[in-house]
Amino acid sequence: MAVKKQSRSTTTTGPRRAPRSQSARTVHAAPSDTDKLPFDTEEVLRRVRHEVRSFADAAMFELAAKGHGSLFEQLIACILSIRTLDEVSLPASLRLLGRAHTPEALARLTPAEIDALIRPVTFHEGKAHQVHAIAVRTRDEFNGQLPADPDVLQSFKGVGPKCAHLALGIACGHEVISVDIHVHRVTNRWGYVKASTPERTLAALEAVLPRPYWVELNRLLVPFGKHVCTGTRPKCSTCPVLPYCRQEGVTSHR
Ligand code: SF4
Repeated sequence: MAVKKQSRSTTTTGPRRAPRSQSARTVHAAPSDTDKLPFDTEEVLRRVRHEVRSFADAAMFELAAKGHGSLFEQLIACILSIRTLDEVSLPASLRLLGRAHTPEALARLTPAEIDALIRPVTFHEGKAHQVHAIAVRTRDEFNGQLPADPDVLQSFKGVGPKCAHLALGIACGHEVISVDIHVHRVTNRWGYVKASTPERTLAALEAVLPRPYWVELNRLLVPFGKHVCTGTRPKCSTCPVLPYCRQEGVTSHR
């Protein structure tokens, strides 16, 4: 179905609130599409927050809620989650960290033992070696304490900006944006940023997104991207942020 960009009544959500502060609220001027409201970051994220309240948390946030919230555990879990569904990576992380959740304990396992614990995960054999190497280096080089330093984290094989930022945000409360495929897709469809890769989306978001939302953005947009703004045929007709969304690149929707 061809997309007809459309406006949607906002009266169901009540009057828009007055701005809290400049740092926590950004209103972007609308592009040429006069059917749409100016993009209101606070209101859009409020609607997304309400929409995803019944969906499962993204795997790493759920893992932290289950007691595996250290930087080391979050980094290991993020590696397991790469190119793997949360439904697969979360149980695998729980199996692995249930057996060994410290660098010392994990370093005592062999890569083959780690592989057996994480086996359904995509690229499990290579990831088993990466996880083991991180545990050994953390034990030997950092005295068992992983430094909260994005450059150190990204010096490990298999760790890119997404995992480093997400782990630092969840485990250490660092104000960092983690851009995975959902965050990249949704924010570009909104027209909030215009970037061809997740790396460029990260830089663009750092320039426009108020800092109070940097960590929360990933937490909101992973379930929103999985259930509403899906990769193919997003659910635009019932989407709560339709009045603000420019639907960039959307060629068919539900
Ligand atoms: S589902 Fe449609 S309207 Fe909602 S955010 Fe995605 S592209 Fe925009």
